[in-house]
Amino acid sequence: MSDVLAITEHRRGELRDVSFELPTACRELAGESGDVHLAVIGGDVDAFAAELDRDGVDVIHTVAEGEEFNHDVYTQVVEALVAALEPRYVLAPHSVNGLDYAPALAQRLGYPLVTDVVACDLDGELTVTRELYNGKTEAGVAVESELALLTIRPGEWEPAEGAGDARIEAFDVELDESAVGSTVTGFEEVGAGDVDISEADVLVSVGRGIQEEENLDIIFELADALEATVSSSRPIVDNGWLPPDRQVGQSGKQVTPEVYIAIGISGAVQHVAGMKGAETIIAINDDPSAPIYDIADYGIVDDLFDVVPALTEQFS
Ligand SMILES: Cc1cc2nc3c(=O)[nH]c(=O)nc-3n(C[C@H](O)[C@H](O)[C@H](O)COP(=O)(O)OP(=O)(O)OC[C@H]3O[C@@H](n4cnc5c(N)ncnc54)[C@H](O)[C@@H]3O)c2cc1C
Repeated sequence: MSDVLAITEHRRGELRDVSFELPTACRELAGESGDVHLAVIGGDVDAFAAELDRDGVDVIHTVAEGEEFNHDVYTQVVEALVAALEPRYVLAPHSVNGLDYAPALAQRLGYPLVTDVVACDLDGELTVTRELYNGKTEAGVAVESELALLTIRPGEWEPAEGAGDARIEAFDVELDESAVGSTVTGFEEVGAGDVDISEADVLVSVGRGIQEEENLDIIFELADALEATVSSSRPIVDNGWLPPDRQVGQSGKQVTPEVYIAIGISGAVQHVAGMKGAETIIAINDDPSAPIYDIADYGIVDDLFDVVPALTEQFS
């Protein structure tokens, strides 16, 4: 009974990064002796299963039902998988989709649900870590049940690497079609811009420290001098100063550039979740105690309105 099942996630034909992180979290909970089961539901399940066959994965269950995520399909399929496999823990991504079906599933299964888990410690009993107050406080949550459903925060576990030799098995479910009450009818890019920050090698990222929209000019001038792309923290997007596709973070994009220059960004956990994979992080912030300095490789503790024009001049 120490097997662990994770529900992977895909959208518009691509597996999401968290799908490769789930096996790592599963292995922590399954230990040496338990099996790691992944489920891939909908879309091109055979292609997804081949991609997911990484070191440490024992079985991948493919369920060819529909193309995109559907609440009613996922809840029925996962309920059936749990009945068949009897895993001790069920893991889902802490994502828009995961949060859509996990509560319903927990209710159906009678499992306790712990959301937004950032770490697990299984020492006989399971204790998981959640973050509170923008990551300033961590709460240890004892899961006082033999069985549990956890949603895990993307970006917290290393992706599973290396070729695996998982069994890939089609899982048949008799869906109650009358209980499927909604369908995804299409996708529309909202406010799609002309740049893809997730593809950039160098990002010049601006935060609330810039104070006024018109001050963004100095950020674009620096980006021009460095042949970089401009991205931002959420307040800049919330203010309507840059389009949503420029936002880095938990509710924005995940980026992994060679160089990430964080200008006037404090380094809140939701921002860091999107950029901590950058190779080199440079922070410009006049507050030496700003959390961004906890992860920066280089820092300039000074007024950005002095530093940014000076850098632009240097690199022009
Ligand atoms: C559910 C949820 C999801 C979220 N998702 C995201 C997300 O995807 N991305 C994201 O970024 N945030 C996200 N947030 C918001 C996040 O919690 C922070 O509020 C946000 O990241 C702060 O942005 P900031 O660093 O630009 O601003 P602040 O935290 O206000 O930091 C501004 C920084 O600028 C510095 N500064 C000020 N003036 C100067 C100057 N003249 N020179 C140099 N430095 C200066 C200050 O010292 C400060 O550190 C989310 C929040 C929630 C609750």
